[in-house]
Amino acid sequence: MKLDWNDIDSVLLDMDGTLLDRHFDDHFWLEHVPRTYARKNKLPLGRAKEQLYALFRSQENTLNWTDLDYWSSRLGLDIPLLKREVDHLIAVHPHVTDFLLFLRRNGKAVHLVTNAHGKTLDLKLRKTRLGPYFDGIVSAHDLGLPKEDGRFWERLRKKAPFDPARTMLGEDSETNLSTAQAYGIRYLFYVSRSSSALPPSPSSRFISLHYFSQLIPPAGSLEIDLQRDCSVPNKLIAEVRT
Ligand SMILES: [Mg+2]
Repeated sequence: MKLDWNDIDSVLLDMDGTLLDRHFDDHFWLEHVPRTYARKNKLPLGRAKEQLYALFRSQENTLNWTDLDYWSSRLGLDIPLLKREVDHLIAVHPHVTDFLLFLRRNGKAVHLVTNAHGKTLDLKLRKTRLGPYFDGIVSAHDLGLPKEDGRFWERLRKKAPFDPARTMLGEDSETNLSTAQAYGIRYLFYVSRSSSALPPSPSSRFISLHYFSQLIPPAGSLEIDLQRDCSVPNKLIAEVRT
């Protein structure tokens, strides 16, 4: 597949796992919170994990999933404070700033579009200093729907206008790419290396990238041959295009 950047005006980028290393979030929710919860409630760590993982799963695909105030009150813990305790793990994926600079240089409208809660966003933008690279930053909490809900994209479009046929979305969630695809967003890329602590896992449905540098064309060109740079079988690229 040839990607011609002349065909794209708007770029929507997810935050956690896409631009930032998901290792922070995994460590926070799967280790740090259960450890603190176990200590506070005098539970063995295994029991605490069992209870919390079930609780987390019960809120999957809802805004509660990322709502720090919800989890603070549900678990009786100060979740924003706990996040700050491990904020040294917040990290930008390799080549992300190069990609954001490329987009700015070429006049693309770039929006950070995240399910993350405002308090998480504040902490992460403070730590990573990525804020100035974006024309706008939209939290799903401001729109009242998570990206997993197909109606999200129409609401987003009212706040940050884009032409779906000339828009690119980068995500580490196949579910969110699917709702965007159903809405008509044309250029969809799956980030297969969402956490530095896990092996990359390519999507079977969307073109997968290890790094956004794979979308930066050689100097002097705005076209890129994804077949060369993405380790995706030709058959799959053909399917994605149709
Ligand atoms: Mg994500």
